[in-house]
Order: sequence, then C-alpha cells, then structure tokens
Amino acid sequence: MTKTKIEWTDATWNPVTGCSKISTGCAHCYAEAMARRLRAMGVGKYANGFEPTLHEGALGEPLGWGRPRSIFVCSMADLFHDGVPFGFIDRVMATVRLTPRHRYQILTKRARRMALYFSGREVPGNVWLGVTVEAPSEAGRIDWLRQIPAGVRFLSCEPLVEDPGPLDLTGIDWVIVGGESGSRARPMRPEWVRGLLAQADGRGIAFFFKQWGAWGPDGVRRGKKRNGMALDGKIIQATPGPAARGLGGIGRQGLAAPKGLAHWDGQPGGDDG
Ligand code: SF4
Repeated sequence: MTKTKIEWTDATWNPVTGCSKISTGCAHCYAEAMARRLRAMGVGKYANGFEPTLHEGALGEPLGWGRPRSIFVCSMADLFHDGVPFGFIDRVMATVRLTPRHRYQILTKRARRMALYFSGREVPGNVWLGVTVEAPSEAGRIDWLRQIPAGVRFLSCEPLVEDPGPLDLTGIDWVIVGGESGSRARPMRPEWVRGLLAQADGRGIAFFFKQWGAWGPDGVRRGKKRNGMALDGKIIQATPGPAARGLGGIGRQGLAAPKGLAHWDGQPGGDDG
C-alpha cells in the first residue's frame, strides 16, 4: 500500500503508471514530474518514466491490505487512457470485486472512454467514479459520467483554473475543489469556489474544499500551507453519506449504452489521474 497525502482518500494503488496530456488541467501534471523524478532515482516501476505502462505485478496488491480503506486508483496515471486495454481494466476490476472491504475511487479525464467501458459491464458496488472538471470547456465529461450507473459519482474540480460557471450536477454525489500548487500554478478565485459551493448546496451534494494551493483567496502568492484550506473562514470537507453509497456490495444494474457511444471513434473526448 502506498500512503498518500491526498486529503480525500487513504491510499493509492497504481496498476498503471504514465499518461499523456489531454486538457488544460494537465499543464503542470504532478504525476509526470514525480514519474520522471522516480525514474532518475532508479525506481524500477518508473523505468519508462511517464510512458503509459501496465504493471501486472501490482494487480493483486489490495488483496493483502486487510483493513478496509478508501483507495485512489491510478494516482500516477489515468486508468482510461487509450494505452490501457479494456482487458487490463477487467483485471483491475477483478481485484476490486475480490475486496469488497475497500472503497475504490477512480478519477479520469477520459470520461467518454470510461462510459464506453462500463456500457457493457456492471460497476462494482465498491467503486466511486469521478471526472475532472477544471474549466467549463470540460463540463461535457459530467454528461458521460452521469450515464454510468456508479453508486457514487464525483467531480474533481482541481486544479480549478477557470470559473466553471453553472454546471448540470444532476446525478452527482460529491464535488471536490482545489487550487493549483507549484512554481507555475495558476490562481483560483474565491468567487469560483463559492459559486460551486452554492450549486452543490442547492442540490444537497457533498462538497469538499481541499486547499487554495499556491495562490490565496486574496490573490497573493505564498506557501500552500499558509494559504490553507478554509473558505470564508470555514473548513468544508464533506463526503457522500450513506444515502449516496447505499448500494452495499451490489453494483447498480447496467443501463443502455451511454448516449452518443454509437458514434464512438475511439478517441478521448477531451478529458486524472
Ligand atoms: S490526465 Fe492526469 S495523469 Fe494524465 S497527464 Fe493529465 S493530469 Fe497527468
């Protein structure tokens, strides 16, 4: 198990590493920088650097983790990257099904490919599916997500680099928001975050404000820790309640193929790993 500093999960599992950039949120990809660093350090798993790489030897790792935990799948990749065959994703899901004690959180920017994958397969009951929406241009990912019968569907609006404006949050159970970190970080404005909070509150959706990142709500650049995680003086870090998760170990039964998949061309529609 790899412990993580990511606030909304307990552990990470990387049966795939490596990816390629697909939208503006990828500009300063943490996973890319980390993969290159690990390769330079001689860590065998990262011998290919940031090239998408399948790790058969990692497929069974969660089987040995006894205590139930929330596991972020592919923090160093995007599980639905074109370089990951559906047959390999089936093997990831086989491990998921064998470990109902764990909750698996899968986040992608390849929302359309994720919808295609699940159009013919049941979503395991212990899987939460999410898409990244870092800018309004990527809001279409939510449409793909809501067509997948997952017990919990979530949005990661991180790094939020533009005002997302009004979003259709129908069928969404959780919204996570965070600003960008690092030397080239782009600022996130407090009104964007308040706007998302109001939309989530209006629908009774759990809202999790992770952090400001490199730029504070006052528009001043300073350390990420100093900017903190308070929005208008409050820490707001809710997670979906039992009602959203109320499917136990049984996945929702499959729906018809997602709208538009008849025109699927195999190319990502613009979409974290
Ligand atoms: S999809 Fe995620 S892992 Fe892939 S390049 Fe973009 S930010 Fe990095």
